[in-house]
Amino acid sequence: MTTFFILYFFILGIILGSFYNVVGLRVPKGELFKEDRSYCPHCRHSLSWYELIPLLSFTLQSGKCRHCRQRISPIYPFMEFFSGLAFAASFLSLGFQFELLLALLLVSMFHIIVVSDLRYMIIPNKVLVFFAFLIMIYRIADPIDPWWASLAGGGLGFAGTALIIIVSRGGMGGGDMKLFTVIGFALGVKLLIVSFFLAVLIGTAASLVLMSLKVVGRKNPIPFGPFIAIGSLASYFYGIQLINWYLGSFF
Ligand SMILES: [Zn+2]
Repeated sequence: MTTFFILYFFILGIILGSFYNVVGLRVPKGELFKEDRSYCPHCRHSLSWYELIPLLSFTLQSGKCRHCRQRISPIYPFMEFFSGLAFAASFLSLGFQFELLLALLLVSMFHIIVVSDLRYMIIPNKVLVFFAFLIMIYRIADPIDPWWASLAGGGLGFAGTALIIIVSRGGMGGGDMKLFTVIGFALGVKLLIVSFFLAVLIGTAASLVLMSLKVVGRKNPIPFGPFIAIGSLASYFYGIQLINWYLGSFF
């Protein structure tokens, strides 16, 4: 039965993920609720249902538009796959606990934000406000112990990122600051600090690799949202083990 539910959450993640791609692409342009169907960004051909099947269409068309043969960015099927895996992993780690809801909310928020940040270098306010609202309701129903850890986490997320922005002169932006505020509220002080540390560590390492491969220039800003997403999910699932391991190896 467990296998059935793992598969169920994997497929749910892929299907919702393909919707999150659309949300992440359309919200910053203010056209989320426009009626027009999904279209190829190169030739503007409207896509039929069989060109919109998550993962499958991309694979069957070898990553190209069926009409103009231009390449489709692999980010979108990759993100669908990511949400599928992350949904399945959340269920595997939490089962049918109430907290599964929080895990799925976080994965969903990160998916949309990563798409917007990679495409436009924007973490949309509307998306943050929407998820902040849901996470706040969740945290009222299932508070962290002690209850003020959420408020302290939110405050620290805000102030900590603000400090980084001032010190690094724009290494992170206002969107990152608001995102860390939401994460701090969702995870509390301890896991926020781990999220922050992991995001900066992974972000710095990835930037150095990308710069040495000349994929990005020294002056180009790199969107930080994807690193915040990876760092926070790792902290959410493994943060406590990481803290114990770290403290255990020094004291
Ligand atoms: Zn096309």
